Amino acid sequence: MAKHYPPPIPKSKFASCHPAKSIYAKGLCRSCYEKQLRLINPEFAERQRENCRQWAANHTDQKRAIDKLYRAKKDPDWHWAQKLRTNYHMTPRQYDLILQKNKMEFARFVVINQQKRDCQ
Ligand SMILES: [Zn+2]
Repeated sequence: MAKHYPPPIPKSKFASCHPAKSIYAKGLCRSCYEKQLRLINPEFAERQRENCRQWAANHTDQKRAIDKLYRAKKDPDWHWAQKLRTNYHMTPRQYDLILQKNKMEFARFVVINQQKRDCQ
């Protein structure tokens, strides 16, 4: 006698954690699933770290470009600070101090000129 099973429950194609991403495992997208796996499985985490190190060692130019993009995204002033350091051997703090000092000198110059004009 043939058994009749109910039709399978249709599963959503999209992950519950990130609705725009497709399911990788256990209803999660790949990055969320692997993040969870790294927390509960230290061997998996170490294996992934080692793979990452190997990839970085074999793709130094790509790694450098990715790091540069990451830093630029994290800190929009990073490129500006880098140029300041490379071209003028100056930190952003030193630049700000010079700018502040110049503004004060300019303000003093304007006040002195105004006083000279008033005396005439
Ligand atoms: Zn996710």
